[in-house]
Amino acid sequence: MDAIWGQALATIRAQVTAENFSTYFRPLRLAESPDGRMILEVDDAFFADWIRDHYFDLLQRAVKEAADREITVEIVTADPATVTAKVSPQKDDRRSHAQVDSIEELIPLPAFPINPHYTFENFIVGSANQMAHAASIAVAKNPSNAFNPLFLYGGTGLGKTHLLHAIAHEIRKNNPGARILYISAEEFTNQVIKSIQRREMDSLRDRYRRSCDVLLMDDAHILAGKEATQEEFFHTFNALHGAQKQIVLTSDRTPQEIPRLESRLRSRFQWGLLTDIQPPQFETRVAILQGKAERDGIGLPDEVAFYLAQLIRANVRELEGALIRISAFASFNKRNLTVDFAAEVLRDLFDHPSRNVSIDAIIKLVAEHFGVSITELCGKRRHQAIAHARSIAMYLCRKHAQASFPQIGKGFGGKDHSTVIAACRKVDRALESNVTTRTDVESLERKIS
Ligand code: ADP
Ligand code: MG
Repeated sequence: MDAIWGQALATIRAQVTAENFSTYFRPLRLAESPDGRMILEVDDAFFADWIRDHYFDLLQRAVKEAADREITVEIVTADPATVTAKVSPQKDDRRSHAQVDSIEELIPLPAFPINPHYTFENFIVGSANQMAHAASIAVAKNPSNAFNPLFLYGGTGLGKTHLLHAIAHEIRKNNPGARILYISAEEFTNQVIKSIQRREMDSLRDRYRRSCDVLLMDDAHILAGKEATQEEFFHTFNALHGAQKQIVLTSDRTPQEIPRLESRLRSRFQWGLLTDIQPPQFETRVAILQGKAERDGIGLPDEVAFYLAQLIRANVRELEGALIRISAFASFNKRNLTVDFAAEVLRDLFDHPSRNVSIDAIIKLVAEHFGVSITELCGKRRHQAIAHARSIAMYLCRKHAQASFPQIGKGFGGKDHSTVIAACRKVDRALESNVTTRTDVESLERKIS
């Protein structure tokens, strides 16, 4: 059963976003299962419901495929006492909207997958995220009257989604009736596609305006290059902003740096407050680890926390991932959590020399990452966002494809080797001073390896 579950998880991982995978699937535990059934346990009744409502088919299919036979999947809550009022008022909300607006049933606005752990209390504040934290609190305490929109940007795994959910928790605490809509730019794009298919564009924006008081849009950089979605979001934004509804956006970069974003949206994103989240300092990283260990009941010695915090600097999600990994290994193997043990477990994670990848493969990866086409990346346009992506691609080719400067120039549509050298130097310098570049390069390098 273990092997089947492992295989099913791998299938699921390829089919959902990393965010959803770590929020909904990682916490699932395989419980003792009788033949022909697979019992999956989760602590939180809210999560159990959410998974049953949204991912059951996916789960069932993945398990069947992995087992190559019929297996009934059941999701149970570990402790029935946790079946509390955590279920958000969302359900009632949706019902009342449906009464007002029958179109609601055609394309439902997404339900609110609020993560119960992502609260302000659980967010550790340090100088790197202080502004973002303070701005989020200001907005949560006083929606539409502090900054509108609030635009939070920063690298992956630095707490943007956490802050969005924390805002939702706080608003809901002060005003249980508030209609809060959390949506990723990806989901929004899917809704737009559906409305286009059904020719219901007007009703989509109208519905947003009528059925939401607070719009939290995660990962707005995904709007890059999606013209119809941008157009629709522009109208939605205006409708909400005009009606004094709070809007909060997150992105992995500033509006200026999002490629192929309509300028009217770019400018609107800057109407309110723009604030960044930087990678946390050492002390903050240690405090985050200690907080997480305490919540998860992991006995974490200080020196191990220091060790992890020194090892992983730029991404809190990876920091937490490393903690979970070492504590799981320690408990499987009945070992104590020591620095040596942590080093042993994490070794594989950190020194894998990158395999030989081709220039073409890197170009494709970078093009996808920045939402530009391969033709543009290999072309001559000097538009800032494209030139930036091109430089990074050249830099990565030099570092990971073991190619010479002239070979790289050739791979990019026949450019001179001096252009490649200049690009690599530029990225080298930017890595020192610019977090966005560092985050881009790091996340691309992870994909490459
Ligand atoms: P992002 O959306 O920026 O990629 P997330 O909000 O998903 O990042 O954060 C990744 C993980 O790191 C989450 O589990 C989150 O709770 C945790 N995290 C990030 N920053 C902090 C912080 N300052 N304090 C506590 N946990 C944090
Ligand atoms: Mg996020």
